[in-house]
Amino acid sequence: MNRETRTPLADLTENQLETLYAELDAHRNAPQLRHCLIPGCLREFDAMARMAGDPPAQPSWSGDGWRQLGNGSVVPRNGRYVCPDHAELVIAHHARRVQTVSGRWTAACPCGWAAPSQRWYGLVAPLWEEHLLTELGDLPPAPPVTDPEHRTPLAEHTEQSLAELYDRLWDAETDSQEAREVARAAMLGYSLAVPALLGAKTSLEALRQRITLDSRDWTADKTDAWLYAVLVGVNCENTDEGHVHNDIDCNGDQALWDLGLQHDIPTDQVIRTGHLRWWVANAVKVAQQIEAGASDDS
Ligand SMILES: [Zn+2]
Ligand SMILES: [Zn+2]
Ligand SMILES: [Zn+2]
Repeated sequence: MNRETRTPLADLTENQLETLYAELDAHRNAPQLRHCLIPGCLREFDAMARMAGDPPAQPSWSGDGWRQLGNGSVVPRNGRYVCPDHAELVIAHHARRVQTVSGRWTAACPCGWAAPSQRWYGLVAPLWEEHLLTELGDLPPAPPVTDPEHRTPLAEHTEQSLAELYDRLWDAETDSQEAREVARAAMLGYSLAVPALLGAKTSLEALRQRITLDSRDWTADKTDAWLYAVLVGVNCENTDEGHVHNDIDCNGDQALWDLGLQHDIPTDQVIRTGHLRWWVANAVKVAQQIEAGASDDS
């Protein structure tokens, strides 16, 4: 409908208004069916009804349990939607589209599968669909592309197929080099962080010991109380399975609040103090785990 065919308000009858609303409803509620991305799956749902929050015209068009692929995904010809029957499979094999150093395209699946690289990204989606069907058990496993049976004999190679082989080699070399660099950077970070953390743990434990050996009442003064809360902790920190806070050998989980109340400390600062304590306790705990791991190895 364009503006010229609009009926002016003065001429509009009740019936025409009724028709207008009916047409609008029909447009708004026209089913827009989305298909499952798994080849051969016939399930579909009504995206329109789903968006409007209406029940679909047919129960089988319900959008319940359907999932949608996000950005960066490989998008098959059937679209981005996956039915509840196949959602688990697609989540487990949710491949990302990746461009290789040679400018070719591949798909990387969390399971370790990767598409043989292609010169056009559009060719990657069918390979992923094939992978999904293989995982589903609908297709026998694909042979590795380099196995002897599938190698191209020299006589059948062309300049182009040879160039493709070199491109693949280039990508493979870069991949393993990248993995080595990531591992090296991680090792370097680890070798710097561990001694720093162990040193901090020693200091924190010395502070804690110094405070707990001091007989003064650490709750009486506000600053003392804060130091105690961060370095020693006032709440029970027993994380043993089955531990239930009690009045005999633990401080429960309200002691920090009580201390805050005693000194008129605002809620957000009490919460902040709780975080500071958690970071200190966690750093000490992780450092202890690293030490325990190191002594296991020796
Ligand atoms: Zn499906
Ligand atoms: Zn996979
Ligand atoms: Zn407790």
